[in-house]
Amino acid sequence: MFRCEYCNKLSKLREKSYTIVIEKRPKIYHVEYTKIIIKRRPGKGRRKKKVHVKKVTKGWEIVRELRVCLDCYNKLKDNIQNA
Ligand SMILES: [Zn+2]
Repeated sequence: MFRCEYCNKLSKLREKSYTIVIEKRPKIYHVEYTKIIIKRRPGKGRRKKKVHVKKVTKGWEIVRELRVCLDCYNKLKDNIQNA
């Protein structure tokens, strides 16, 4: 059993809870790693080269989420999609 965080109604026994994200913000992740590149040069053998890679990846970070009942989940889902 759980209490819906939107309508404050206590759920029935064995009723499933739904989690809905109501607020999220863009987040930028900085990823750094070292890559080893092997270069083959004709007649001179192989040469290893270390390359430092810096990558910026964009993602989403969840700010606020609610545990809600099915009714509220359906209501909120439509609202968020239309926004
Ligand atoms: Zn509810």
